[in-house]
Amino acid sequence: MKRVLSGIQPSGQLTMGNYIGAMQNFVKLQHDHECFFMIVDLHAITVPQDPAALREQSEQVAALYLAAGIDPSKASIFLQSHVPQHAELGWLMTTIANMGELERMTQFKDKSEGKESIPAGLFVYPTLMAADILVYNAELIPVGDDQKQHLELTRDLANRFNHRYGDTFRMPEPYTPEVGARIMSLDDASKKMSKSNPNAGSYIALLDDPAVVRKKISRAKTDSEALVKFDPANKPEISNLLGIYSHISGLSVAEIEAKYEGQMYGPFKKDLGELVANFLEPLQARYREVRQSGELYDVLKQGAERAQEVAQLKLDDVKKRMGFVMPR
Ligand code: ATP
Ligand code: MG
Repeated sequence: MKRVLSGIQPSGQLTMGNYIGAMQNFVKLQHDHECFFMIVDLHAITVPQDPAALREQSEQVAALYLAAGIDPSKASIFLQSHVPQHAELGWLMTTIANMGELERMTQFKDKSEGKESIPAGLFVYPTLMAADILVYNAELIPVGDDQKQHLELTRDLANRFNHRYGDTFRMPEPYTPEVGARIMSLDDASKKMSKSNPNAGSYIALLDDPAVVRKKISRAKTDSEALVKFDPANKPEISNLLGIYSHISGLSVAEIEAKYEGQMYGPFKKDLGELVANFLEPLQARYREVRQSGELYDVLKQGAERAQEVAQLKLDDVKKRMGFVMPR
């Protein structure tokens, strides 16, 4: 049994990318491990958020966790902002990091690109993420490919701290899906699918109406070769759709290629639209039940209590080692 930790930002509508890259593994891991799954609202505000939207999105993420099958009797589900130890250790870790290594983070480069004024929170985001993980001694971190660099930095910071102050933090490992660790945008296969993309046509949201899902997939960009073949280097768009198809259907990519041999993209896209819509319908029905039941607040309260208990132990240890006077 390992300690598992991960989170999703309430920064927009959760996408198939979040599901395939992260959430699907949350559901799997909860059976054999001690899991902590957060709604990382403190991370979401590293880009401006409308307060009402942030509240709604935070509840959406929590309800989607439950709808996707995370069982609160097995895993702790909580809001990052309900566990103040994250922000406190986050500050301490910021003092361990240096500017150069933060400047190298591709997420920072991507998200700050073209911005006239860059929020400082966006820059120090990885130090808070390091704290999220290290404060629980978490070992397995289910994330998509895009977070691997941040996890590497977390390990670097943990090593530096351990070296300076003695053995304190455990080294976390990423846990990514074999296929689908990076689902790409529907309109531009050079960019990953992201919920904060202003073009809603670029992603499939887990809460999209089935009719909208079918339409988005039918409009997804493809090449002009009309050959359903997995070839990410030369045919990134269709390869991305094949990856989604494979994940949802359970068929291998080779089986899907064989099924559509000699056919144009139309039938493939139509079937994929059906497949995704049929997958989302029961998830959305459970989501609506969760929202109506009012169970969310109890789940979040319980989760935060458990998380605080664990996190405070580590925070105290860290503060003692760094030389803070502890209250008596
Ligand atoms: P934002 O655009 O606000 O950063 P996001 O879609 O990138 O949103 P995050 O909350 O940053 O979502 O990430 C939540 C989890 O989903 C992380 O584990 C991340 O690696 C994973 N993830 C995000 N996008 C993808 C993707 N396109 N493919 C696979 N996994 C993804
Ligand atoms: Mg992201």
